[in-house]
Amino acid sequence: MTTTLPAYDEVVARYEPVIGLETHVELGTNTKMWCGCPTDFGGEPNTRVCPVCLGLPGSLPVANKAAIEATIRIGLALNCSIAQWCRFARKNYFYPDMPKNFQISQYDEPLCFEGYLDVEVNGETVRIGIERVHLEEDTGKTLHVGGATGRIHGATESLVDYNRAGIPLVEIVTKPIPGTGALAPEVARAYVTELRDVLRSLGVSDVRMEEGSLRCDVNTSLNLPGAEWGTRTETKNVNSLRSVERAVRSEMLRQASVLDAGGRITQETRHFHEDTGDTTPGRSKETATDYRYFPEPDLVPIAPDPAWVAELKAALPELPRLHRRRLQEAWGLSDLDMQSVLNAGAVELIEATVAAGATPAAARKWWLGELSRRANETGVELADVGATPAQVAELQGLVDAGKLNDKLARTVLEGVVAGEGTPTEIMTNRNLEVVSDTGALTAAVDEAIAANPGIADKIRSGKVAAAGALVGAVMKTTRGQADAKTVRELILARLGA
Ligand code: ADP
Ligand code: MG
Ligand code: ZN
Repeated sequence: MTTTLPAYDEVVARYEPVIGLETHVELGTNTKMWCGCPTDFGGEPNTRVCPVCLGLPGSLPVANKAAIEATIRIGLALNCSIAQWCRFARKNYFYPDMPKNFQISQYDEPLCFEGYLDVEVNGETVRIGIERVHLEEDTGKTLHVGGATGRIHGATESLVDYNRAGIPLVEIVTKPIPGTGALAPEVARAYVTELRDVLRSLGVSDVRMEEGSLRCDVNTSLNLPGAEWGTRTETKNVNSLRSVERAVRSEMLRQASVLDAGGRITQETRHFHEDTGDTTPGRSKETATDYRYFPEPDLVPIAPDPAWVAELKAALPELPRLHRRRLQEAWGLSDLDMQSVLNAGAVELIEATVAAGATPAAARKWWLGELSRRANETGVELADVGATPAQVAELQGLVDAGKLNDKLARTVLEGVVAGEGTPTEIMTNRNLEVVSDTGALTAAVDEAIAANPGIADKIRSGKVAAAGALVGAVMKTTRGQADAKTVRELILARLGA
């Protein structure tokens, strides 16, 4: 296609976007939703299966209490009401990776409903309405092999792995979010980020988008100002936070170009392409009636005891937003500084580094400086850059003890990132420790004085400021390892200044 897309600024000047997000999160329970099979990621295909999760005839599901508890905790953290009585429902459709030919889900009786999540975008709080939080089961995975792309087209065979089938899956659906205008893509990203942090703080999932334990479908529509909301499309295959933002933006541009040309938006599923950043149509959207939902006859209704729910609510951890506010105060950061910590994804890393003994300022300096730069260069998340909070704290300890100066510390940190060992090991093995032993430095100082007689004369005649040049010379010959303060004192002493 060679249609030229309109400029983003023009699109948001003429149309109002509405977005809505459906997020699936795989719970980190020990066992699956209806059976005792383990839930760990990976594993040899079809080794974590049993008659229940393979949907064999005669097998019966039993609901996993830990999954119900986790779902209620998610609902509570998202300010939802918790159903006093609700049922699971059968969602009927055929797909090879779903062995029962129906998925046990929830339909008109979700476990949690009517909540909200506050997120911050550009220093402003946007309240995102939560429509529902319900519990269902994940499907297996289909692998298309023999082709070049891993897609079904061109593949010679398809393999199905049921290890994932039956893993508890929570779906969190927002209400439509109007009124965000040009910020719609950022709001979508901020919401998924905040939601991920909430889920992580609850400890209910490892929330890894790249491993698919957190998956997001992005709904987008455009309408003319004052008109009714437009028809939405649902973009799938959005596998990173950055992609959430890009997917909304790209759909806004595409829909605007269709509408500008007098066309209509079809309600459909679309696929996001990481490489090009655009979306292509998938299947046209099924409606609820296609799925022939009915109450699951093999399971009893869920009726959580209100006293239990109250207990779970009282035991919720401090939620990320409040936690961040408390850290910001403790670290003495301005809103802007805190924002850059957030943008770098460094909150928890700095927190852990401080817990390991560094000052907040030092921890922030390393994570936002060297390590962020490194993460950007190599295209990895800051947490995966190769240094741990404990190592960063150890490195700073060496600086504070005068064993490393800033430059040497950066060299040591490179070694840490490269996996050479702990900061102390690297400092010792590579012989990088600051030399402050006057005996060892005197020779280098004398050499510098002899090589720069003019400067030496100036210092002798009282121009103490000129000592800097000689300090620099000594630093050079000692490969940056001399303790600058000691060198300076030595120079002044040698020249009688
Ligand atoms: P489905 O399963 O059919 O996708 P859901 O109710 O699970 O339906 O999710 C629909 C999502 O789309 C919700 O997040 C909802 O807020 C959002 N949505 C509904 N109408 C619009 C619209 N006009 N524009 C954008 N998003 C919308
Ligand atoms: Mg949906
Ligand atoms: Zn099983």
